[in-house]
Amino acid sequence: MTDRKRPILTLNDLEQGILNQNITILARAISLMESHLDQHQTLAQSLLDRLMPYTGKAHRIGISGVPGVGKSSFIEALGMHLIEKGLKIAVLAIDPSSVKSGGSILGDKTRMQTLSTQKNAFIRPSPSAGTLGGVAQKTREVSLLCEAFGFDIILIETVGVGQSEVIVSEMTDSFLALMLANAGDELQGMKRGLMEVVDLIAVNKADGDMKALAEKTVNMYEGILRFLKSPNSTWTPKAFACSALHHQGIEEIWAALVRHKTEQIRSGAWDQKRIWQGQKWLISALENELHHCLERDMSAEIQHAQIQITQGKNPSLLAKQIFDNWKIFIKQNQ
Ligand code: GDP
Repeated sequence: MTDRKRPILTLNDLEQGILNQNITILARAISLMESHLDQHQTLAQSLLDRLMPYTGKAHRIGISGVPGVGKSSFIEALGMHLIEKGLKIAVLAIDPSSVKSGGSILGDKTRMQTLSTQKNAFIRPSPSAGTLGGVAQKTREVSLLCEAFGFDIILIETVGVGQSEVIVSEMTDSFLALMLANAGDELQGMKRGLMEVVDLIAVNKADGDMKALAEKTVNMYEGILRFLKSPNSTWTPKAFACSALHHQGIEEIWAALVRHKTEQIRSGAWDQKRIWQGQKWLISALENELHHCLERDMSAEIQHAQIQITQGKNPSLLAKQIFDNWKIFIKQNQ
C-alpha cells in the first residue's frame, strides 16, 4: 500500500472491489492480509470482518503430497475439469520454503500453465517460511477472501512437511492425499497422522507400466482406510487410481469429493466441522497474538532466558517468570 505507483485503497474500495470481482483488488487484499505491518493487518482484518457474511459457500478442499507426486499436474487436470463445469476455482499453493535452505519446494518452474490462463481460475502461492508445519499463517483468511469474491471451490495445496497435512485438514471440508504406487513396504512407514485425516486417497501416475501396481496400491489403501475408519463417522475414506498427466480418473475423484460433501451436509458433520474449525482458529489466533506481544515486549528477557537454558535452567519455570513479568509490564504501561 506504500507503493507510490498504486493508489491507496480504502476499506470501502477493498470491500466493493472484492464483491464486484475485481481480481487486482483481491490480489492486493491478500497481500495486505499477508503483510506483517500492523496497519495492513488492521485494514485486512476489518475487511474480512465486513466480508464474513459473503463467505461459507465454497467447498474447501485440501490436497497434499510429496514433491514430485504430481500435485500441480493433478490440480491442473481437476481445475480444468471444474472450469468446464462452469465453476470458479481458487488455488492457494502453500510453499513451505525451507527456513534452513531458503529454497522453494514448489519450485521455480511455472506451475499449472493451462489453468493459470483461465479467467475463472486464480492461483496464489503463499509463502510459509518460518510458520508451524509449513502452513502459511494466513491461509484461512486468504481462503475466506477468495470465497467472498465468489470462488466456488478453494483448493489448498500443501507439501506434506511436518504437521502441514493435519493443519490443512483443519481448515478444509475435504482432504485428499496424493500418493505414488508402491509395493507395500512404504506403507509401514506411512504417517499415521495423515491417514487419520484423509477423506480420499488418489494414487497418481496410474499409467503405462505403473498402472497395475497403482491399482494394487489402491486396494491396500482401501483396506487400511476401512480399518482406520472412526466408528462415529458416516464417511468411509476412499482410494482411487488416477493419471493427472492423461486426465484419467479425475472425474471419479471429483464425483467422490461431491459425494463426501453431500454426505457430510446430510449428516450434519459439515456444519459441526466448520464450527469446530472456527473455534480452533480462535485459539490459534490468540496464540499468535500472544506470541507477537511477548516477542515485542519481552524480547530482552526471552534472550536472557535462552542463555540461562544453556546453563541447565528449567525452561518451564523461565517461561512462567517471563509471563509473570509481562503481566507486571502490562500493568505498569496501562
Ligand atoms: P508436484 O511436485 O507434486 O507438483 O509434481 P508435478 O505435478 O510437478 O509432477 C512431477 C513430475 O511427474 C512431472 O514430470 C510430471 O509430468 C509427472 N507426472 C505428474 N502426474 C503424472 C501422471 O499422472 N503420470 C505420469 N507418468 N507422470 C506424471
